[in-house]
Formats: sequence, C-alpha cells, structure tokens
Amino acid sequence: MKIRYFQKGFNYSQDGPGNRLVVHTQGCNLHCPWCSNPEGMGFCGGKEEDAETLAKFIISCKRLFVDGGGVTFTGGECTLQAKALKEVFLICKENGIHTAIETNGTFSMPEDLYPLIDLIICDFKHFDENKLKEVTGCVADYKKNITEYLESGKEVWIRTVLINGFNTEGDAAEKFARFFDGKQTENTRFEFLLYHEYGKEKWNKLGLEYKVENGFVSEKIKEDFERVYKEHGLKILRS
Ligand code: SF4
Repeated sequence: MKIRYFQKGFNYSQDGPGNRLVVHTQGCNLHCPWCSNPEGMGFCGGKEEDAETLAKFIISCKRLFVDGGGVTFTGGECTLQAKALKEVFLICKENGIHTAIETNGTFSMPEDLYPLIDLIICDFKHFDENKLKEVTGCVADYKKNITEYLESGKEVWIRTVLINGFNTEGDAAEKFARFFDGKQTENTRFEFLLYHEYGKEKWNKLGLEYKVENGFVSEKIKEDFERVYKEHGLKILRS
C-alpha cells in the first residue's frame, strides 16, 4: 500500500520522547489559519512511497533512536492514511521501534491500530465545537475521540496551542480543564504551546492569505493555563 508524505527528518524531543524520525503525511481535513505546514494541507503534492519501503527506511535508522526515541507520524493528518500507517507500524513493532502519532483528534481510531501505537499526541484546540468548526472547518466529534484515546489506557499527550483571539479569553482555561474532569487521565500529560508564526512565510510563498492577526499570547497566560489544569489534577508536560 502507498503512503503519501511531504517531509521526513529527525527531531529531538518535540514530537515524542528521545531522538525521533518525524514523517509528515500529506493532506489534512482541517484548515487551521495558523497551520505551520500549509504545504501539507492539500491532498496532492508530496511523494508517494510503498509503506513497506518506508518501514524499511525507518528500521535502517534504528541506531539513531536514542533516549527512548523512535518514529512519529504527523501531518497533515496522518490518521487519514490509517491503512498504510498500520502497515508501517506493524513492521516497526516487529522490529522493536517506538511508535507515535500526532493527530488533530478528528479520527476514531480502529481497534486494531491501538496495539501498534505507543504514544498518541493529540490536539485539543478548543472546548467549544462551534468555534472550532467556524475557524478550522472541524465537523468531527473530537471530544468523543479524545475520550476514547484516554480510555484506551495508552500514553497520551494532549496539546493546546494558545492563540489570542481564538482560545484564551475569559475563563477559557477553566472550560478547557473541566472537559477532563472525571476522565481517565492517569497516562495523560498536558502541554501548552504559545502561538508562533513559523508558517507565515510559507503561506505567502504558496500565494495563500495568512489571516491570523495578533495571535501571540504571553508566557503568563500559559502559566495560568498550567495552574488551572493542575488544580484539576492534570499533569503538565513541558518539552
Ligand atoms: S490540524 Fe494541524 S496539520 Fe491540519 S490544518 Fe490544522 S494545524 Fe495544519
């Protein structure tokens, strides 16, 4: 089976533990206006490769996966190519490689994929479905999916990028945290990232309009979110 991706390369500790090979698959079902990889949003472009060939390349990198590293599939939205992902991960697990995915949470994971994934890194972009739909086009029941990920007992990292004018105003931190009350979060870590504009130049180069204005938030707001989450008994991750 073929898998389509637009980039692969090594990254230390940002996309899972240790030194990791990070594969960016092509295509995403959302259109976040701050996306730092706009070249990966469309479904054309990138390159196609046999899942088995890619898996062999991953295995050839095994000695580089130091400090608990391994392979991370991100996007785009890697779960849109779940069948190919399964084929790659099956070979990775047979070869003792740590596997992680980064997902936007719009995907209900097939039961047979869970055993092949060691770490799920999932966005939780907004507590309000309507707001998320308005800004990113998300129509999926992402809250149900996130709940499923937590209940799977897998190691899960929930990530929220804090963006001024989108998800930080008023008592947003409390509303975000409340979603996790009573949920199974024993194996879950929560991470907040500050909005950045690393992708802005790429949007311009692609002839796309970058529409976010003044999305920056202070370190203080991030600390406030962390404090509120801790008050709800949630464990904070800082990478
Ligand atoms: S979900 Fe991620 S990859 Fe998709 S558009 Fe949003 S930021 Fe970009």
